[in-house]
Amino acid sequence: MVEEQLRARGIQSPAVLAVMGTVPRHYFVDPALPDDAYSDRPLPIGFEQTISQPYMVALMTELLNLQGTEQVLEVGTGSGYQTAVLAELTGSIVSLERIPELAMQAKERLARLGYRNVEVITGDGVQGYLPQAPYDRILVTAGATIVPPALYTQLKEGGVLVIPVGDRQQQTLLAVERHSKGWTQREICGCVFVPLIGEAPHP
Ligand code: SAH
Repeated sequence: MVEEQLRARGIQSPAVLAVMGTVPRHYFVDPALPDDAYSDRPLPIGFEQTISQPYMVALMTELLNLQGTEQVLEVGTGSGYQTAVLAELTGSIVSLERIPELAMQAKERLARLGYRNVEVITGDGVQGYLPQAPYDRILVTAGATIVPPALYTQLKEGGVLVIPVGDRQQQTLLAVERHSKGWTQREICGCVFVPLIGEAPHP
């Protein structure tokens, strides 16, 4: 997976490649699909949700440019796999998942694997999570139609927000940086995520 799907496609960060080589992805997928765990595609995790393709996990993680001490907000815990990858690379993570069963399963898996710097919370990520804001990094792993305003404001100055934005069929992965005078935004690539639910109507 690391050589053929990640390094060959341009993932360069030694830290990201190393972590993707060690976090056991098969713990996070349906035990009936062990042979598929490292395949080059998203996989179903129940409740009409998916665990993202390994390349997308690596790309988003690389864009966050984690140094080891950041406070990170993740929206869309899903299986918890991306959360585990982040937990290996940073200080502490709050991960929000709207489906209680998925949140519970992810919490148990992450605890069993020994991650102590992760808090999985059942809640609506469109609102962010004020009790621990602001964040050095925010990662959204569901497709939004706009960047939720709460996430802009809960990002620290100098912080980075990675989020897929578009319509239901396809999105563009954005890397947003907050500066002293506002935000700048880079378009990274096209992508397809399950929808971010519960967005406020467009102003
Ligand atoms: N990163 C995950 C993939 C998640 S799929 C993994 O590695 O497995 C997207 C997840 O976002 C789904 O579990 C979905 O339930 C969740 N989601 C969608 N809208 C949400 C919202 N408003 N708040 C929190 N979670 C949300």
